[in-house]
Amino acid sequence: AELDTLDILVLGVILLGTFAYLTKGTLWAKQKDPYANAAYLNGNAARAGKTRNFVEKMEESGKNCIIFYGSQTGTAEDYASRLAKEGKSRFGLETMVADLEEYDFDAMDTLPSDKIAFFVMATYGEGEPTDNAVEFYEFINGDDVAFSQGGEDAPLDNFHYVAFGLGNNTYEHYNSMVRDVDRLLTKYGAHRIGNAGEGDDGAGTMEEDFLAWKEPMWAALAAHMGLEEREAVYEPVFGITVREGLTPQSPEVYLGEPNKMHLEGAQKGPFNAHNPYIAPIAESYELFKVKDRNCIHLEIDISGSTLSYTTGDHIAIWPTNAGDEVDRFLRITGLTDKREQVISVKALEPTAKVPFPTPTTYDAIVRYHLEIGAPVSRQFVSTLAAFAPNEEIKTEMTKLGSDKDYFHEKTSSQLLNIARLLEHVGNGETWDKIPFSAFIEGLTKLQPRYYSISSSSHVQPKKISVTAVVESSMVVGRQDPFRGVATNYLLALKQKQNGDPEPSPFGLTYELHGPRNKYDGIHVPVHVRHSNFKLPSDPAKPIIMIGPGTGVAPFRGFIQERAQQAREGINVGRTILFFGCRKSTEDFMYESEFEEYKKALGDKFELVTAFSRESSKKVYVQHRLKERSAEISDLLSQKAFFYVCGDAANMAREVNTVLAQIIAEGRGVSESKAEEIVKNMRAANQYQEDVW
Ligand code: FAD
Repeated sequence: AELDTLDILVLGVILLGTFAYLTKGTLWAKQKDPYANAAYLNGNAARAGKTRNFVEKMEESGKNCIIFYGSQTGTAEDYASRLAKEGKSRFGLETMVADLEEYDFDAMDTLPSDKIAFFVMATYGEGEPTDNAVEFYEFINGDDVAFSQGGEDAPLDNFHYVAFGLGNNTYEHYNSMVRDVDRLLTKYGAHRIGNAGEGDDGAGTMEEDFLAWKEPMWAALAAHMGLEEREAVYEPVFGITVREGLTPQSPEVYLGEPNKMHLEGAQKGPFNAHNPYIAPIAESYELFKVKDRNCIHLEIDISGSTLSYTTGDHIAIWPTNAGDEVDRFLRITGLTDKREQVISVKALEPTAKVPFPTPTTYDAIVRYHLEIGAPVSRQFVSTLAAFAPNEEIKTEMTKLGSDKDYFHEKTSSQLLNIARLLEHVGNGETWDKIPFSAFIEGLTKLQPRYYSISSSSHVQPKKISVTAVVESSMVVGRQDPFRGVATNYLLALKQKQNGDPEPSPFGLTYELHGPRNKYDGIHVPVHVRHSNFKLPSDPAKPIIMIGPGTGVAPFRGFIQERAQQAREGINVGRTILFFGCRKSTEDFMYESEFEEYKKALGDKFELVTAFSRESSKKVYVQHRLKERSAEISDLLSQKAFFYVCGDAANMAREVNTVLAQIIAEGRGVSESKAEEIVKNMRAANQYQEDVW
């Protein structure tokens, strides 16, 4: 990912390959926010008629620094919050964080020159803006940008800004969003302070890139604005009030419900990134034939909702943290006895937003709303040092916070989450001096995870298939393996559905029945995201699909669809799938299903397999692709569509390289010419990626 850890995610995002989302989020972005009355949208943000003019907003709230974020998985949003906090505590800036989607930009030219705007911009997929940055990007990148005061040569001459980008160097359009925004602002006469930073999730250095960028940026900004650095004193952004009159049974208390409609018991659409549908899981089973690895197939029933999908879309799964990790977190922070206490959380300043609805309980916040399993940021460790249980621990925390290599050795390489880190550094002491606000500020919101839908909407419009490999990895020097948040939750659901009364994958327990038993009977909260990873509209066109491992997910949907079309007598083009896994006897998922599709599609369908651990030399899908050069080249000249899904870091890149080689040989052109042809194929949607 985007590397918003996951908002991180995600994101994080993680990062999505080639999807320019069909709607780019604008369908829902433009709808009136249906939760505008939800308790968690406190302050001005929720008030009807609030201004979309950020200069006015800054004026009204006495701010001189606005930090905009374009975030998909939450990392960029998180960085924006951290910058806001740091700007205030170290330099006395009056900062506010702002979602790009909530403002208009035509009045940018009225920002006084003694104020500053930050842009923290994640690049999504193939160089696209994140959903919440689409409108801003369209505005600033438009052909006829009109600023409120009209068109001098340098309309933004008064506008000063700071820029940081979150990207992934495994994508061709690395950090293109921050580069574009920087170029366009400069073009209109704006002045950048410091360098335009670039964080690289592909190299795994996002956090360090951010930390290395921000110090010289602060120095440049302090010089520009005449700011004096002062000793940073922690000031909470959120105030916590105990609600004596309320108990977890009180009807107005949120126990994990994502918004007011859910609290009141109604499941009403539209279902989207703010409002999941609690969907029944119709069926679930294991796809692997080995004991130590799991890959789960789920059938999610959306017939009771207004949700719909088309083949190639993504489904978002809203996970719940593992009970053991929730317990660990509450124990180390000294909150175990207070876990059911009802509290209200209020932003202490009008431009901050509480990221979950309240009144609620500590248990619900930690279980349903905070990403407690994620990697810990080094900066956050520095912040927490001030609240260490004793001086010795404080010294160790300060060292971890300031020494990059030491931090890596002790924390990142061990895949420690926040509670495990505090446990480890604290030698059995409880960290009860940390204000809870610090966790709300320092941890990302728990993010939904995306999955490429592995069914065809033509075949099963109201049932969505998911193919998810369970994240579990042994870590040298650590006793228990690292376990992914969402996939182990799904594994627990699968175990429950298949008769285990107390599912606990690898000892992890989950509150599968959800808040107030609302998920009982095996349900999972979901929403659907439209993608433009799509079959050609003409079924007669040939398709070539490269999908090793869970990269096969969307292609199961594609082939299911084509098999059905063939049964209906439609002329279906050649359909080739390159699939790879370790061993034919272990992780060859959907093997028997592919035989069924073969019956329907006959010679039109071919499955080419690469089993990496069945011979002394590792064979991967890209090798098989190379072996079929002549045929691939021939199909491409018939305008075959070429699809890649799965691992963004290595596989997708190598496939791209092999394809260029095939084209170079097949057409007798140079490799650089062939690469250009591949680029053009991408631009024309003839080459599509769905990678993460
Ligand atoms: P997480 O808990 O989110 O962990 C994921 C990774 O983050 C870990 O492996 C580790 O590298 C890192 N990490 C997490 N915590 C820490 C820590 N404390 N310290 C250090 N590192 C840490 N997956 C599928 O199986 N099938 C699909 O079809 C599929 N489709 C996708 C489509 C899209 C568009 C995207 C973006 C992703 C897709 N994914 C798919 C991936 C999926 O969204 C999840 O990322 C994946 O299932 C892992 O989720 P998790 O919550 O179990 O793991």
